[in-house]
Amino acid sequence: MQLLPMHSGGYSLLSFQQWRLKKYSLQTTHQWSKMKFLPIENDQPNEKNTIVFKLHVHCKRGSPRITVKSDELKWLPNGSELIKESRKVASDSASKPETYTSFSCSQDTLPEFANNPIAPKYPDIIISKLGPGQEIELEAHAVKGMGKTHAKWSPVATAWYRMLPEVVLLEEVEDDLAEGLKSKCPVNVFDIEDLGKGKKRATVARPRACTLCRECIRDEEWEKRVAIHRVKDHFIFTIESTGALPPEVLFTEAVKILEDKCERVITELS
Ligand code: SF4
Repeated sequence: MQLLPMHSGGYSLLSFQQWRLKKYSLQTTHQWSKMKFLPIENDQPNEKNTIVFKLHVHCKRGSPRITVKSDELKWLPNGSELIKESRKVASDSASKPETYTSFSCSQDTLPEFANNPIAPKYPDIIISKLGPGQEIELEAHAVKGMGKTHAKWSPVATAWYRMLPEVVLLEEVEDDLAEGLKSKCPVNVFDIEDLGKGKKRATVARPRACTLCRECIRDEEWEKRVAIHRVKDHFIFTIESTGALPPEVLFTEAVKILEDKCERVITELS
């Protein structure tokens, strides 16, 4: 559950950036029936730093097994509904019972979420399967955090970059040589252009697909016909998002952070 991406419009989520379901200790008896909070760090959980979901599913005795999916998570805009154990005993009937959050207003009145209720981004992510007589009842608190504190808050799954490959034909490669060159490349960088009258010429059709494997210039004679380079100031990033933010937003946010860091270094040095 910790990695379920939430939906409420990518950009409104930027202000509530990198929410992740906070970890709970589930007392897993034979069935997941009880749960208890781990203490929430530092800040008191409030409407600005915490989003609360409730999930309550019961598979009745004698019924077939059921699959619990992410659409069963219901947003609680007023915060936690669980009353703290210690307060249950101490509180008198007149005072408001203390829960695990202290919301001063309902989150559905906040401009970010007024017309954009928070819900799991994908409704069909399987959370668990329940057998007859089993039940899950839980409250899940999504808290704001940063990837540098813990990877669970990172909105990026896998990210890597490579330099732009450059493939240049140093001379005309024609006819059988063109066919030979085309068949050498495992990722189809080259194509054949029909010149008419039975003449053919090799072209570099998909240079970005080049993996720089050097297969096409393995034979010495081909080194004078084909040149393979990396463009040293052109990077191609591949970013896989966990789903909370689209990859292009992740990239631009990362560039902004890098820019800030560079400015701080320049300020320190000047
Ligand atoms: S280096 Fe490899 S991938 Fe690139 S053009 Fe040559 S054969 Fe194709």
